[in-house]
Amino acid sequence: MVGNSSFKVGIYIRLSRDDGNIESDSIVSQRSLLNQYIKENNYNLADEYVDDGFTGTNFERPSFKRMINDIESGKINMIITKDMSRLGRDYIGTGELIEKYFPNKNVRYIAINDGIDTFIDNTNNDIAPFKAIMNDMYAKDVSKKIKSSLHSRMKEGLYVSGRCPFGYMKDPTNKNHLVINGEQAEIVKLIFDLALKCNTYHFIAQELTKRKIKTPASYYNYVWNTKCSTECISQEYGVWVDTTIKAILTNQIYVGDTVQGKTKKINYKLKKTVKNNPDDYIIVENTHEAIIDRYTFNYVQTLLPKNVKRPEKKRFYLLDGLLYCGDCKHRITIRYQNKTGRSYTTCDYYRTYSKYHVCTTHTNNYEVLESVILDNIREVCKKYLDKNKIKESIKDLEFGDNTLKIKKQIESLEITNNKLTENLDKTYMDRLKGIIDEEQYLRVSENLKQEIDNNKKNIDNLKNESIEVNKIDNKQIEKYINEFLSIDNPTRELIINLVEKIYIYQDKTIDIIFTFKNVT
Ligand SMILES: [Zn+2]
Repeated sequence: MVGNSSFKVGIYIRLSRDDGNIESDSIVSQRSLLNQYIKENNYNLADEYVDDGFTGTNFERPSFKRMINDIESGKINMIITKDMSRLGRDYIGTGELIEKYFPNKNVRYIAINDGIDTFIDNTNNDIAPFKAIMNDMYAKDVSKKIKSSLHSRMKEGLYVSGRCPFGYMKDPTNKNHLVINGEQAEIVKLIFDLALKCNTYHFIAQELTKRKIKTPASYYNYVWNTKCSTECISQEYGVWVDTTIKAILTNQIYVGDTVQGKTKKINYKLKKTVKNNPDDYIIVENTHEAIIDRYTFNYVQTLLPKNVKRPEKKRFYLLDGLLYCGDCKHRITIRYQNKTGRSYTTCDYYRTYSKYHVCTTHTNNYEVLESVILDNIREVCKKYLDKNKIKESIKDLEFGDNTLKIKKQIESLEITNNKLTENLDKTYMDRLKGIIDEEQYLRVSENLKQEIDNNKKNIDNLKNESIEVNKIDNKQIEKYINEFLSIDNPTRELIINLVEKIYIYQDKTIDIIFTFKNVT
């Protein structure tokens, strides 16, 4: 062909795992095909660009980027690939290149096997956008297939993860089912027992280490290289750390539920995984034997936010871990001042970023603050008991603060159901207008109805649960209140059971959030 030698050609080669094991797609065979084509047509090969092991669903590929740079600098003005999917499997991106970028830069593009040549007006070029969509669908389909099969296995409550949670082992007769590992389960129980007594993660970790209880890591024979400073613990047992304790105390697996799908891929075009919203976790209840009963587990969860690290050397403060800055909502810390022999509070956010004036000091004398707060708690507790006497006589069943979470779940399910009902109506209108046929209508409406029904069942279950929780809580709370009012020096454990959080404002306003419904 005349004039072909005026083209400075870049050949682009790409291979990725999602292309399967097709020999013709290997680097070697792509290269030999392209070189032969160049030779036959008398083109000038300017450079070769190879992306080995990069997916076609995005353009984050080193050689592809280099090729674009070379187009920009004028080093090349023509690109040849074996077929369009080598360039990319993302329709929008590929279309953008072929329909806008290349013409714009006056770059000629040839996809040999697809018969595409952007400088020759032929019918194959017209199908280029369609081809790009097909390539995109291929990628989408593959990723959906993998995801959906894993997803459905999770929904069945099958345990699909490779490693077993501590306390369990895989059922020898069914690898997707968990059974209790007696020895480890005892350790899990001990950890929950210690947490019930309002011990911190740190304390529990130290206690377990002291008692020479084997860590999960030492069970799994991991290589151990924690530095032992004071007393060296035998490698056989290992050193327990706070994060392990926290992971165990917050894992719903121990009540017998399978919780999976904690992370997800953003979509098939990006490699990155993100943490799923807890609402999107795939939770299947009662898939295996529980180690911890539900009530204990839920109760421990309410204690955990107040569980702050308190090294033993540090002074003990009754309200430590409960104080928050009312203005910026960060924690308020208590520090002992040698100079004055007194302890003071400071907003943590202010202290850390004092240069930036993000918050104010929130300085208070801790002893004074504590006595003011205790007086206030006493007052509210007395009121609560008085009001409750009246309440009981009129049998008022109000939601407590602890059931707030359940209430929110119910609300969100109800909102979802309203939307689904709207969709159902819309589908019906579409059918009436003839936009969809009978078969489509039946399929879509069946699915929607099914989903609405499932949500309704969940709402009913949650409502029952909230009444149960409320009953237990009221009795329990009354016990704590009576105990609190009967003693002069309340324990930290008792306070934690009554108080959720205490907000301290710069103007010295104090706002106490109670674990029970505050009556004022
Ligand atoms: Zn603050």
